[in-house]
Amino acid sequence: MQGEGFLAGVPSVFVRLAGCPLRCRWCDTKYAWSKEAGRRYSTEQIVQAVQQWPCRFVVITGGEPMVDPDLPQLVRELKAAGKHITIETAGIAYIPDMPCDLMSISPKLSNSVPDEVKLAEIHKDSKLDLAVLKELIDNYNYQLKFVVNSVNDLTEIQDVLDKISNVDTSKVMLMPQAATKDELLTKSPLIAEMCKLAGFAFSQRLQVLLWNNKRGT
Ligand code: SF4
Repeated sequence: MQGEGFLAGVPSVFVRLAGCPLRCRWCDTKYAWSKEAGRRYSTEQIVQAVQQWPCRFVVITGGEPMVDPDLPQLVRELKAAGKHITIETAGIAYIPDMPCDLMSISPKLSNSVPDEVKLAEIHKDSKLDLAVLKELIDNYNYQLKFVVNSVNDLTEIQDVLDKISNVDTSKVMLMPQAATKDELLTKSPLIAEMCKLAGFAFSQRLQVLLWNNKRGT
């Protein structure tokens, strides 16, 4: 089930692609950082596996799917199979002309910088690319989901939105940074207040609320 964003609660099949150049401090899919993680499947095998589920909605996530060279072919084949496709991305790479129904972009803020110096260096290089973000929102139906840790993040979010300049703010969501259900429930009231103040939507995280972020949910 999709747990986040405007499609939260919609039954969905998740396809997780391995490999991500970022190293976010609170990443809940560290097992997918390496390109060698998981198993190798052809796009045909993935489409067959997806079709075993009675869901029209497919979410391609990662890792970072937008750095996978096989992504365009996978999207085309899933679309040909009649699926509604969401791509979940940090917005660090642009690929044109994919028949994707929703580009779910989660730009990474300062709160995602890892503590470890070596990882922080890797992270810094590809954390935020405003030109890429602009291209994504200009060319795809999108939602912008910001992971928020504290009220201080609002200034940085506003700054990013100002720099991209043509963002439809009704598509902007704030989402609590939370690895556990308790953390989510503790932070949610503050994030909801921030949403009310800024005029953004609140994004639930049902995978944390219902299943405490257990792998595979
Ligand atoms: S971009 Fe996503 S997958 Fe990559 S490190 Fe950050 S949270 Fe994890």
